[in-house]
Amino acid sequence: MNRLSNSLVAADVAAVLHPYTNARAHEQKGPLIIDRGEGVHVYDEAGKEYIEGLAGLWSVAVGFNEPRLVEAAVRQMQKLPFYHTFAHKSHEPSIRLAEKLVEMTPEGLDRVFFTSSGSEANDTVVKLVWFMNNALGRPQKKKFLARTKGYHGVTVASASLTGLPNNHRDFDLPAIPVRHLTCPHHYRFAHDGESESEFCARLIAETEQVILEEGPETIAAFIGEPLMAAGGVMPPPAGYWPGIEALCRKYDILLVADEVICGFGRLGSSFGAVHYGFTPDIMVLSKQISSSYMPLAAVVFTDEIYQAVADNTNKIGTFGHGFTASGHPVATAVALENLAIIEERHLVENARQMGDLLQVGLAPLADHPLVGEVRGAGLIAGLELVSDKATKKPFDPVGKIGALAAEAGQEEGLIFRAIGDTLALCPPLIVTEEHVHQIVQRMEATLNKTA
Ligand code: PLP
Repeated sequence: MNRLSNSLVAADVAAVLHPYTNARAHEQKGPLIIDRGEGVHVYDEAGKEYIEGLAGLWSVAVGFNEPRLVEAAVRQMQKLPFYHTFAHKSHEPSIRLAEKLVEMTPEGLDRVFFTSSGSEANDTVVKLVWFMNNALGRPQKKKFLARTKGYHGVTVASASLTGLPNNHRDFDLPAIPVRHLTCPHHYRFAHDGESESEFCARLIAETEQVILEEGPETIAAFIGEPLMAAGGVMPPPAGYWPGIEALCRKYDILLVADEVICGFGRLGSSFGAVHYGFTPDIMVLSKQISSSYMPLAAVVFTDEIYQAVADNTNKIGTFGHGFTASGHPVATAVALENLAIIEERHLVENARQMGDLLQVGLAPLADHPLVGEVRGAGLIAGLELVSDKATKKPFDPVGKIGALAAEAGQEEGLIFRAIGDTLALCPPLIVTEEHVHQIVQRMEATLNKTA
């Protein structure tokens, strides 16, 4: 059957502008329509089975048909399907989830603000920090430090924090004050012959130089993903985060860990910050918080920030920020159940064990003629394809072979995400040894098909 004569495909092409999609190519190609999910698998309309090697969008920790999440949603829907948290109103699921997040996150993170998406959460971070610094009588302390290739979302402020050209090009973002520092990815950004520790020392020195150049009194916060994911799965060099943390403390700069992907066990530790040994002032959480069954995100922050903000709300009369769905009862009820499952089934420990297997299984693919680097941590991995292994020369144009590989992967029954020419894997936390072996086998078959 010609795919475009399928009525759902045709209706999609006729009506939908897709996120992160070349719209003209989509008109020719149409969507892959996913019909249902079960465990680590999803099934298309024709019934073909795929391992969801990216857990949807780095999201579905507990698998695609967890009945307990469905039941939690139905229970809450029947009791109170919606209520808000504005103007002194509240409801139990949002209170219990806030309590749970304070308990789970590292010591010192004691206050929670809910949003529906990671982008809204990062916009909230920007506004919270600005509001706080105005309250503290230091209105000049507003700049953010972020990283090239960092990903923090697509709303106007969060897209400004994001360090990827496609999120800026032709969108005329009003410049919020952000300096993007060098991406801490040794393979791509180290100088010739520079060791990982020399590279790390250079990045820390560069950060300090930028702080001094701009003036520490003008810099509000440093934001980063513990392991940069959506920009291409790039773990930091050893010592990077403790070095950044020390600079933040020295110059009174808030440290924000964007844990939207790393949080809740992805790296085989509770949080990315715990994995890399640093303590942020603010954590941004989403995706695996509810396995994305319901849209939800949270900003978790210190009591010190809270006290400054609270004083100012008293002066002004209100905290003029919040969303209709902040703390949505169904989303927070589902998240509570999801976090209970992660604990009961020891999924963080499973991520650590299966993650080790995945990294060991993928490592030999570095010898494949197409592959420049295999990298990752825990249950997240990236394979970067290059046209010349010795010089690391990328394919021209970047993204073409990645897209071909993603198609070949689908034929092999493995869905992953091509970020340029890096093939990203981030399977559900419930994967078993057998799934991991299948992922590795199918990735190898994919590379052979693409070569
Ligand atoms: N921050 C990080 C680290 C992310 O990976 C993402 C999305 O992938 C976001 C923020 C944005 O989240 P959302 O797509 O829910 O707005």
